[in-house]
Amino acid sequence: MQNLKLKAKSYQGIIDRYKRYLPITDKTPIITLREGNTPLIYSSYLSSVVGKNFSVYLKYEGLNPTGSFKDRGMTLAISKACEGGSKAVMCASTGNTSASAAAYAAKAGIKCIVLIPKGAIALGKLSQALIHGAKVLAVDGNFDAALELVREITAKYPITLVNSLNPYRIEGQKTASFEICDDLGRVPEFQIMPVGNAGNITAYWKGYKEYKAAGKIRELPKMLGFQAEGAAPIVRGHIIKNPKTVATAIRIGNPASWKQAEAARDESGGLIDMVSDKQILQAYSLLAKKDGIFVEPASAASVAGLLKLTDKGYFHSLPIKKATIVCILTGHGLKDPDRAVNTVKNPKVIKPNLKSVLKEIGY
Ligand SMILES: *Cc1c(COP(=O)(O)O)cnc(C)c1O
Repeated sequence: MQNLKLKAKSYQGIIDRYKRYLPITDKTPIITLREGNTPLIYSSYLSSVVGKNFSVYLKYEGLNPTGSFKDRGMTLAISKACEGGSKAVMCASTGNTSASAAAYAAKAGIKCIVLIPKGAIALGKLSQALIHGAKVLAVDGNFDAALELVREITAKYPITLVNSLNPYRIEGQKTASFEICDDLGRVPEFQIMPVGNAGNITAYWKGYKEYKAAGKIRELPKMLGFQAEGAAPIVRGHIIKNPKTVATAIRIGNPASWKQAEAARDESGGLIDMVSDKQILQAYSLLAKKDGIFVEPASAASVAGLLKLTDKGYFHSLPIKKATIVCILTGHGLKDPDRAVNTVKNPKVIKPNLKSVLKEIGY
């Protein structure tokens, strides 16, 4: 009894919390790892950089169960796949989708097949897909080629596609905008996020619009999306054949939700711009050093974008006196530890005595 009471009170994941906004029924088996409910963290450093009367918050999605926001969409996609009797799911992935799909498929007891671009996925993500028992195949091609194959195979065989083309992924991911509004008690004026395959910007925008329609918020935020310079098809207006960036999670040349991303941008009066790898890595280090938050490079694109817009005077050129800005930090830094170790000096080796340590630390 005691246990049951506890269970009823504790957090049960995004489907349970936001079920009235999600396409589920009493019959949907809820496959959850208690994703969502991630912290919205005030950054005094970034707020002071943008200027007086601007508040910058960081939505730390790296704290989801598998370390990225993909879990929000995956809990619903896998639950609906199970409801429909599916025994296998498949995705193409730059890493985080496969990590999430593998974990939720394991929890559901169904098969998971993953196509990754050969050599282009961070070690942490690969290790997750492997340890959860997914069938992982490395395609000698890029993400876009892998996704094309997955679309073809899932159209012909009884395997459920769990890329963000699956509408349940978008439905689940939109709950992050609900959380932001619930935590702030209002809607932010601006939301900044990285854009890769563009499913997430589509999801957030859908979430905000639904919350407004439900009377939970009065306004809508401006959606500010950032691509990496070497993988910026939406900014440049054409497909990028060989996308290149250190931010592997957004190394995508032909986004599946291209049109929806443009709609989010235009309907909200926002923008989609790009940042260089150098700017991404600077923001990556800054977040770790000034805010104590370790993200993977793709996530840092949002803060790199914030800094770029601040430098250009964007926020101060608008007819507003004060504003709340939310940057989405999409994935955890431990996904890609090599990047961190290669960015800073490795520890110096010293003799195992007091004198050596004291000398190094300046006492
Ligand atoms: C998937 C992912 C993105 C890009 O999201 P899209 O929906 O593809 O635009 C950004 N950052 C991280 C960490 C991701 O895993």
